[in-house]
Amino acid sequence: MELSSRLKLIKPSATMVVNEKATALKLKGVDLIDFGAGEPDFDTPESIKNAAEAAMRAGQTKYTPVGGTDALKTAIIAKLKRDNGLDYAKNEVLASCGGKHSLFVAFQALFGNGDEVIVPAPFWVSYPDMLLLAGAKARIVSTKEENEFKLTPGDLEAAFTPSTRAIILNSPSNPAGVAYDEGELSALLDVIAKRDCLIISDDVYEKMVYGDFKLGQVLRLRPDLRGRTLICNSVSKTYAMTGWRIGYSAGPAALIKAMTTLQGQMTSNPSSVAQAGAAQALGGPQDSVPLMMGEFAKRRDFVVDRLRKIPGVRCPKPQGAFYVFPNIDAHLNPSKGLKTGDDLAGYLIEEAHVAVVGGTDFGYPGHIRISYATSMHNLERGLDRIEQALRKLGNA
Ligand code: GLU
Repeated sequence: MELSSRLKLIKPSATMVVNEKATALKLKGVDLIDFGAGEPDFDTPESIKNAAEAAMRAGQTKYTPVGGTDALKTAIIAKLKRDNGLDYAKNEVLASCGGKHSLFVAFQALFGNGDEVIVPAPFWVSYPDMLLLAGAKARIVSTKEENEFKLTPGDLEAAFTPSTRAIILNSPSNPAGVAYDEGELSALLDVIAKRDCLIISDDVYEKMVYGDFKLGQVLRLRPDLRGRTLICNSVSKTYAMTGWRIGYSAGPAALIKAMTTLQGQMTSNPSSVAQAGAAQALGGPQDSVPLMMGEFAKRRDFVVDRLRKIPGVRCPKPQGAFYVFPNIDAHLNPSKGLKTGDDLAGYLIEEAHVAVVGGTDFGYPGHIRISYATSMHNLERGLDRIEQALRKLGNA
């Protein structure tokens, strides 16, 4: 089968590959502990399910406007005001089929051949490939583990080239949970503000920060950058709604209009029923979020503590999201077929029946990503298994 040359540019999503492998093993009856999936283990709150059900019963089962129902747009606008202190109008927001789709549509609308987009590493696996599909290229900027994977203004400054069109900021980040406070983000925005450069602010983990950490927000700090900032967000993580596939974007009207045109030729509207659920999620009671975060905080502490006790494993404590990204370099051994964290992930799933994602497609082959969005019971069992499997290798 001769496929489009575009397909030669990309590879399967590493997170989705692990999800599929884990699901297949579970279906076979394997007692698999799944630290692969980047999704909260909590159920979607009842009030959201009820809103979706009511919408379905009321006949909201037809096409909606491409960019989302009036009710969802209203809820998105109210959320941006309530949580972010931002004023957006209906022609400046767009609902899509998940955060991934929001970003995909944005990249297609904005970028083309020869464009470069700055992507701080470690990065979410899909940014580089989604940029390639738009004809653009990720300019990966490495960060240092000893600096908790934080981008410095100097590193950022050095990354600009005449082809730079944009930077993707993802704070807190997938996979390392890196979160920038106001001072750190301000320093980066000072560098960006001096350049002719767009900002894609991927805010899907914005609600997932720990303790009294004060997360920097691009447009709160620099309202003057509003004309060249696109916010992408989703209800997936915050409200445990990954399967509903609702993401949204807020940005300049001309860009939102272009993205809506593209979406109209691609998917049309996101699911009408899911939109009703998302409107309730954004506009309804917010009490499920701190409850979930309270659990995640306990799990984060437990996982970091356990990993740090395993010889040859280093693990910074993430400030946000629900992943850790430990360095497992000391456990690699090319003579045993373990060259990268991906090989180690393969070993762990086969030998220990624990699914994790290898670090290569996040930009750091000597690492693995562990999602701790699973029960404490599973975390205890999974970390026991990882520890035993690593000790068995005898490399560190
Ligand atoms: N945040 C999820 C993960 O990284 C997204 C899954 C994906 O679409 O890659 O596991």
